Amino acid sequence: MNLLDGAARSYAWGSRTALAELRGLPSPTRHPEAELWFGAHPGDPAHLVSEAGPTSLLEAIDRDPVGQLGAAVAERFDSRLPFLVKFLAADEPLSLQAHPSLDQAREGYRRENAAGVPIDASVRNYRDANHKPELVVALTEFDALAGFRVPRETIELFALLGAEELAPYQRMLEDQPDAIGLRTLFTSWITLPQRALDAVLPAVLDACVRALERAETTRDRRFVAELRTVLELGEYYPGDAGVLAALLLNRVTLRPGEALYLDAGNLHAYLRGTAVEIMANSDNVLRGGLTPKHVDVPELLRVLDFEPLPSPVLESRTQPDGSVRYPTPAPEFALTRVELSSGAGADGAGSSPYTLGPLDRPRILLCVHGSVQVRAGGATLPLQRGHALWIAASDPDPELCAATEDATVFVAEVGSVD
Ligand SMILES: [Zn+2]
Repeated sequence: MNLLDGAARSYAWGSRTALAELRGLPSPTRHPEAELWFGAHPGDPAHLVSEAGPTSLLEAIDRDPVGQLGAAVAERFDSRLPFLVKFLAADEPLSLQAHPSLDQAREGYRRENAAGVPIDASVRNYRDANHKPELVVALTEFDALAGFRVPRETIELFALLGAEELAPYQRMLEDQPDAIGLRTLFTSWITLPQRALDAVLPAVLDACVRALERAETTRDRRFVAELRTVLELGEYYPGDAGVLAALLLNRVTLRPGEALYLDAGNLHAYLRGTAVEIMANSDNVLRGGLTPKHVDVPELLRVLDFEPLPSPVLESRTQPDGSVRYPTPAPEFALTRVELSSGAGADGAGSSPYTLGPLDRPRILLCVHGSVQVRAGGATLPLQRGHALWIAASDPDPELCAATEDATVFVAEVGSVD
């Protein structure tokens, strides 16, 4: 068991305050801080903190896969930690993207290798042969676009906008209000020549402004968040087809503790907020716009799932012990939120510790509120807000208890070894 030093990623869309404040560090920071990675990703592993100095978690696992991961996990996942967990803080929208399925990733990786595209080339889509299911749990209000809205509702949005330039596209959806219609419409938008885009986009943005003005008078809040998002994206990425695509997606605001699960083929873009994110250990992203990075439309179209997503927010499950589980089909990871309190009850007794089972599994704990004591074997380590801790499979009987009046910890672990 060791405290973990995360690997900080500074992207332009990050926040100068959120991650520093979470960790109790001076804020605002000089550069935007976007992500803090806790995992053993070869590109940027976290480090185990010890008196002898920091050790890369990747090296520690390479040296002793069975001791760190446990025999079952080491065997099932090829002696690698199968998940990567992060703090993420977005002050600006991220790119419009989707992730491949396992089969698509294997095939794409092989194809790009055969074509001789260097692994670190900016035009490379598949940097590994793995899928990348993602789960994001909000720590603050968290805005995102996720999955295609039910076409019937999108037709209502188009009707509300009432832009003549949108009429032919509205008809595409009216003729076929399903996944096929969405594919036809999205494909025609994302492949529009720039000249055509430059005619449609300003008209759509104008229509958004007018619709918002009308909403102001009528106090009808329907689609207000959607319209504002389209306008905001239009300012960040003028002339980008992704701005039109945003009209087709569910606009979600998660409250703290709520989650989104982004399975293979789900078109999504994070917009703003702070979150815990966990994913399979992969870097495979296919972008469709809203980014200065590499965009590969044909490849994105190959992996996209156009089936509408009526309710994108994941249903969490409260366990008998009071912890909250975010169930997903991903075997690589599982995430649980544990609320602890040290509050003495009426009988004066403190609350009992939270035990982590089953044994022989690795875990990463992230504390997001208060602080806790983590015990395993004879050792005890304090874990504070904004910090993380690695528990090896060989650490005996780990348990936690609150060191402050109340505390919140996320437990990241492997989903299934079957
Ligand atoms: Zn993603």
